[in-house]
Amino acid sequence: MFKITLRTFRKLSQLFFLALFFLLFRLTDYSGLDEIPYAVNIFFRWDPLVAATVLLSAKVLVSLLLPSLFVIALTMVFGRVFCGWICPMGTLLDGTGKVIHAPAQSGQSLRSVKYVLLGIILVSSLFGLQLVGYLDPFSLLVRGFTLAVDPVFNLLVTGFFDPLYRYAPQWLSNISEPVYGVLQDSVLPYKQTFFQLSTLSGCVLLAIFALEKLEKRFWCRNLCPLGALLAIFSRFSIFRRFPKQACKGCRDCAPNCRMNAFDSDGRQLRHEECTLCMDCVDDCVNQPSRFRFAVPNSPMQIDMSRRSFIGAGLAGITLPLLSKVDAAHTLPRPFLLRPPGAADGNEFFSRCVRCGECMKVCIQNALQPCFLESGYEGMFTPRLIPRLGYCEFNCTLCGQVCPTGAIGRLSQSEKHSFVIGRAVFDPARCLPFADQSPCIVCEEHCPTYDKAIKFQEVTVVNRQGKSVALKQPYIIPELCIGCGICENKCPLPGDSAVRVVRAGKQSEEDGFGY
Ligand code: SF4
Ligand code: SF4
Repeated sequence: MFKITLRTFRKLSQLFFLALFFLLFRLTDYSGLDEIPYAVNIFFRWDPLVAATVLLSAKVLVSLLLPSLFVIALTMVFGRVFCGWICPMGTLLDGTGKVIHAPAQSGQSLRSVKYVLLGIILVSSLFGLQLVGYLDPFSLLVRGFTLAVDPVFNLLVTGFFDPLYRYAPQWLSNISEPVYGVLQDSVLPYKQTFFQLSTLSGCVLLAIFALEKLEKRFWCRNLCPLGALLAIFSRFSIFRRFPKQACKGCRDCAPNCRMNAFDSDGRQLRHEECTLCMDCVDDCVNQPSRFRFAVPNSPMQIDMSRRSFIGAGLAGITLPLLSKVDAAHTLPRPFLLRPPGAADGNEFFSRCVRCGECMKVCIQNALQPCFLESGYEGMFTPRLIPRLGYCEFNCTLCGQVCPTGAIGRLSQSEKHSFVIGRAVFDPARCLPFADQSPCIVCEEHCPTYDKAIKFQEVTVVNRQGKSVALKQPYIIPELCIGCGICENKCPLPGDSAVRVVRAGKQSEEDGFGY
């Protein structure tokens, strides 16, 4: 008979938050509206690791991240309940572990690694290097799903239904088309997207799930810096398992614990590792174990030697210094465009947690992750690549979904005058200059009210020796906002004859001064 136990509630909670995660992921998309009316970035906003690193590196308290205080309070009462009952990464790992029959114990404990990683991330943030995006579970998940899983999923589904529509008999496409329509309205993205670094992001995600083969929740036990931070706060928790040790009767709970939270001989439970999954309570034959409120009296047992502690601190100081002497910092980067509303220079790096929300929502698939263009400090930060997609004149979505204010929220009128860069023509490629043939494509597409592209009417002698009247385009810099539509629509193959270069404060930092 189906028995409702504490474990049932935990599973229901996990399913609820996993469904919420995917729902919000799907809603982080263009739906025909100018505004996204939901807090689609809430998982980042209640992430205390994101809040702490942004506070330390940007030296500002970002009000958007205040919900993270709720998670800290929750942890200080209930311990790492977030990891066991809420975190979608944990739930997906539990599911993976079931499918691949992950062993409960591997005999090896690498618990201390997550504290070392947490130490490096926090100390680096203090010295201005934001590393959280490489290891925060939500950044890894959302970025991996945005850059790799979602595009592949859409490609597979479309690849299945497209041939049915084109080649199948009418009766079959009469069935398949409505099904495809339902999928488009529910689980498929607004359009097929393509991203740089999709393979790398997909492989990182795959590796995290593959580690389940070694032991259950390998990532949570050993690597997750958010888990490590919550473990530290859980030392104050007042809701704990009793007895503190696996009791003499059988000790079955100790080897079966998914977090390996008991010490080696099963005598002592490490509260900071326990995620309150309730397995040990529900599986206990004699039912002596239970969770209850009590004043904490056992000292915290952080698995970190003094040597690891000092090592993490030194690495946290050294990495920011190394990033500062990276040659990428001194190279001018005239074509590295940031999204509209992006904070300037260092503040952008300090605030951006590489979550990929902006790239996910971008209508034109214009925002792409950086690789090493601005050093490893800038890896996975968004850049606008106009040849792949331009910035839509009326769109302000990326600023709406950015959880940390790395991209500021712009009103429509602010967006219309926000300067991302300035377009520059290359006369060696532009058709009316280089080929003496007519072309007005860029001017036709320019969305600014007074048209930032104008023409000079000239008469030239073409290759056939004939005099022809031509319109040669030029830019009015004060009117150009650098949306990149001219670069995107230029009909030349390969590189465009008009390119957007950085403008404003960012270009001054480069010594570019445009
Ligand atoms: S880059 Fe432009 S088009 Fe893309 S989401 Fe941001 S505002 Fe919209
Ligand atoms: S700029 Fe983009 S990747 Fe960075 S925090 Fe904002 S939404 Fe996330």
